[in-house]
Amino acid sequence: MEHVGDVTNEMELTFDSHSSNEAFARVTVAAFMTQLNPTVEEVADVKTAVSEAVTNAIIHGYENRRRKVHIRAWTEGKSLYLEVSDEGVGIPDIRKAMEPLFTTRPELERSGMGFSFMEAFMDELEVESEPGRGTTVRMRKEVGRGRDLWTTQSL
Ligand code: ATP
Ligand code: MG
Repeated sequence: MEHVGDVTNEMELTFDSHSSNEAFARVTVAAFMTQLNPTVEEVADVKTAVSEAVTNAIIHGYENRRRKVHIRAWTEGKSLYLEVSDEGVGIPDIRKAMEPLFTTRPELERSGMGFSFMEAFMDELEVESEPGRGTTVRMRKEVGRGRDLWTTQSL
């Protein structure tokens, strides 16, 4: 993952892998990123990515057992970095798991689009996983790019 400057602010959040905490997690990250002066669309993109990663940790990583999900978020320059991790079952073939429409849980009416959404809505996505040890999803998004352009053009 590309690093773009000094870490200016950081937060960590650990919560139970209960599905109701998915909303809590995405709202918390949205609140944290307001310091970057994001557009409404950028906040929506990040919330979607957090929601997908946290849902994956809960339903795939922990198979709905009650364990802990961790989020680390920090800012570097105009970039928001996110790490969503679990100590769950892990992913045997990451490349395959990241393919659009690939799911190991079609019976749960999963569409296999979670990683594709994370990739589409964030600027960078990296997945690290080890079977039996857990999974870490790392993401970066540059925030406020559109605003700068607008400011420059309006001068
Ligand atoms: P959707 O997100 O569209 O509901 P999905 O969760 O199956 O469906 P992805 O989010 O793209 O699709 O994930 C693809 C596959 O990767 C999952 O079916 C699962 O096998 C595996 N996977 C993803 N995250 C984890 C995780 N944290 N732990 C273990 N396996 C995971
Ligand atoms: Mg998913």
